[in-house]
Amino acid sequence: MTNTGTNSATKIWIARPMTASVEARARESYGSLEIRDTNAVLSEAEMIRALTEFDVVVPTLGDKFSAEIFAKVAEPRCKLLANFGVGYNHIDVAAAGAAGLAVTNTPGAVTDATADIAMTLILMTARRAGEGERLVRRGEWEGWHPTQMLGLHATGKTVGIVGMGRIGQAIARRCHFGFGMDVRYVARSDKDLDYPAVRADSLVDLAESVDFLVVAVPGGAETLHLINAEVLKAMKPTAHLVNIARGEVVEEAALIDALQSGSIAGAGLDVYEFEPKVPQALIEMENVTLLPHLGTATEEVRSNMGHMALDNVDAFLTDQDLPNPVA
Ligand code: NAP
Repeated sequence: MTNTGTNSATKIWIARPMTASVEARARESYGSLEIRDTNAVLSEAEMIRALTEFDVVVPTLGDKFSAEIFAKVAEPRCKLLANFGVGYNHIDVAAAGAAGLAVTNTPGAVTDATADIAMTLILMTARRAGEGERLVRRGEWEGWHPTQMLGLHATGKTVGIVGMGRIGQAIARRCHFGFGMDVRYVARSDKDLDYPAVRADSLVDLAESVDFLVVAVPGGAETLHLINAEVLKAMKPTAHLVNIARGEVVEEAALIDALQSGSIAGAGLDVYEFEPKVPQALIEMENVTLLPHLGTATEEVRSNMGHMALDNVDAFLTDQDLPNPVA
């Protein structure tokens, strides 16, 4: 794969406003740079422009670089999609490769922050924190009493991690060392861990044996609706589902059924199948905690992600190996 070097003719497009330090570095480093000034996802016309007018593009979540988009641009000028984010299920990587583009992501930078949000959701849904907060804000709290708003005691319970990768392991570590939980998981391969964790034989086996089922697999065709009615039905009626991965990994209609029928106790969600649309049925249920995709939302982490994306751009522009190529 060739590139056009760091000269001012090399055109770089960053598809969203970034944190100040990332924007400052980009403006200092690249002679011909555009930073898009809106947070809307790229339209089809913009993606075609990305491929035809720029050498390097930094896209992110929601920018659907599908096979159809690549098919519309016969000879793309763009040679690198340096994705901002670890999840790249919005990019058809095979189609990108066939069109001559490399794709990179930002693994690692996101891990701890996303694991922290998983813990936030585990605790919020188990301890009814959203419901309690709403009660106080409505002015309806009548004072402490021994049987008020009883939730699920999280310490010492069993957590099931679906996808024991970087983030899954960081969640498991917090659950084991912080909350004394038993850890079970499913992944495609065994993991060598420095704390006890049992790999379940199947997702259904995992679902029926845990108090918290936490989803941490990548999105994409392979994991679409991995958490379906069968898996939800296997869960204990006292158990909670937490999803910090990608919305479409959980079949949202089946989740709504499971919550409405009481076949699971609650859910904590950071991501949604048709994001940013959140079904009214979920909004109306008190036992569901809904966060607006906050996994990596801290200044420090978003800056680290941006710098990691720019490290990939810089490596590409100087003909070095890409630090974070996507398989
Ligand atoms: P990772 O290190 O690649 O881990 C993914 C794990 O999922 C691996 O353990 C993998 O198994 C497992 N896996 C993949 N396909 C599977 C399947 N079909 N069945 C069971 N397990 C499967 O990725 P990561 O860095 O932890 O990130 C995971 C995902 O979190 C990202 O892709 C992204 O979509 C999401 N995410 C969300 C947020 C947020 O803001 N909410 C932030 C960051 C990331 P093997 O290890 O055996 O290959």
